Amino acid sequence: MATDLAKAAKERGIKYFLISYTDLFGAQRAKLVPAAAIAGMQKSGAGFAGFATWLDMSPADSDLFAKPDPESLIQLPWKPEVGWLAADLFMDGKEVEHAPRNLLKRLIGKAADRGWEMKSGVECEFFLTTTDGQAISDPSDTHEKPCYDQQALMRRYDVITEICDAMLALGWGPYQNDHEDANGQFEMNWNFGPALQTADQHAFFKFMTKSVAEKHGLRATFMPKPFMNLTGSGCHAHVSLWKGKTALFEDESGELGVSALGYSFIGGLIHNADAICAMTNPTVNSYKRINAPRTTSGATWAPNSVTYTGNNRTHMIRIPDPGRFELRLPDGAANPYLLQAALLAAGLDGIDNKRDPGQRLDINMYVDGHTVKDCKKLPLNLFDALRAFEASSVLKEQLGDEFVTAFAKLKTVEWNAYARHLTQWERDNTLDC
Ligand code: ADP
Ligand code: MG
Ligand code: MG
Repeated sequence: MATDLAKAAKERGIKYFLISYTDLFGAQRAKLVPAAAIAGMQKSGAGFAGFATWLDMSPADSDLFAKPDPESLIQLPWKPEVGWLAADLFMDGKEVEHAPRNLLKRLIGKAADRGWEMKSGVECEFFLTTTDGQAISDPSDTHEKPCYDQQALMRRYDVITEICDAMLALGWGPYQNDHEDANGQFEMNWNFGPALQTADQHAFFKFMTKSVAEKHGLRATFMPKPFMNLTGSGCHAHVSLWKGKTALFEDESGELGVSALGYSFIGGLIHNADAICAMTNPTVNSYKRINAPRTTSGATWAPNSVTYTGNNRTHMIRIPDPGRFELRLPDGAANPYLLQAALLAAGLDGIDNKRDPGQRLDINMYVDGHTVKDCKKLPLNLFDALRAFEASSVLKEQLGDEFVTAFAKLKTVEWNAYARHLTQWERDNTLDC
C-alpha cells in the first residue's frame, strides 16, 4: 500500500490524483490534483467550500480540507494515469464529525475498542439505461421473468466484463455477474471485507460502473425505483463480526448456526429499523421500492415489514448461512459510508442492550404477511423515516448529535422541496374536486 503518494505516482505512472469525498447525500466530490502537487495535499488536504456540497456548513465557514487516505488509492482501471483517493474531512484543524467517512471510522473505532471488526459485503444492483435515463438501454430485454436472462446478459458483455476485469485486477475477488429481476437490471458480486474497505469499494464501484457505462454510450443508475412496474434496485448488505479470525456470529448450537451475540445484533437492527431507514433508504424514491406493490416479475424482492427469517427472501433480514445475515432493506441510493455506519450503530445498540429480535418467521411475507400480529411496518415515505431518525435516542448516542442534526436538517430541506412539487397525479385526481 502506498504511504508516500508522490513516490507512488512516480512508480506507477500516475499523472493526476482525484482527491474524493462523499457528502451526506452520497455525491462524490473531488479535486483533480497533478502528481507534482500531491505531496503538499497529502499533508494538508485539498481545499473545498463545504457549503457548496451537501454538508451542514455555511458560506461564511472557513476552508474544508479533504485529506486523502493513501490506503484507499485506486488507479482508475479505465484511465490508469489517474489515482482515486477517498478522503477524510477537516475544518479549522478538527475532524468534521458529520462527514460520512469520518463518522464510519468513529463507529469502527467503537467496535475496535472491544476487539471487534465488522465485515460486510454489498450487492449493488443497477440499471443500464439510455443516456437520458428514460428507458432501459436494451429494447430486446422484455421478458416477464428476466432474472438471470443469459441472452440479455450477454448483450451487455462488454460493459459487465470491463467492470469485472477491473475488479479482478484490483484484487476485490469478484465471483459472479448476473441479469437481475428487472428488465435492464444487473448485479455484480465481489468478496466481503472490513466495513471501511467495503464502503470505499462501494463508493468506487458506483463511480466505476457509471464511468464505464458512459464510455459505452449508456447510463448506469442505482436509483431505487426508476420504473414503477419493475423490481427496484436494492443494496443488500451481508454482515459478520470478527475477533481476529474468530467469527463471532457463528455458533453451531445456535438456531441456524447464529450465536447469541449475532441475535443481539439482529435485535438491534429490528429495534432500530425505522430509525435507520433514513440512512439505508435515503431518498423520496426509496419508498417506492420498499412497500411496493407486486412487480411484473411476480415479486418485489424488497421488504415492507420489520421481520427476520432463515433462507427466505421475503423478509427484511435473511439468515442464509451460519455466522452471517443479510439486511435486505438498503437500496441503491444508500450512501456507502452511512450504510455501514447505520449497521454498526444499530448492531452495537443491539449488543449493548441485549435486544431480543423476537420470533423468527418462516412464512412467505408477500402472501401471509397480514397474518402476523403486531408486525412493525417500515416507514411509508422519507418524511416518516426522517421523523423516526430524528427521534431516535439510540442514533443520537451512537452517531452523535452533530451528525443526526446535520443529516435530518439537509434531508428535511430535500423533503420540503419534493412536497412543494406539483405533480400530474394531483391534477388528474383533484382538478374536478
Ligand atoms: P445473495 O444474492 O444470495 O444475497 P450474493 O452472492 O449476491 O448473495 O452476495 C453475498 C454477499 O455477501 C457478497 O458480497 C459476499 O462476499 C458477502 N458475504 C459472504 N459471506 C459473508 C460473511 N461471512 N460476512 C459478510 N459478508 C459475507
Ligand atoms: Mg445477490
Ligand atoms: Mg441478496
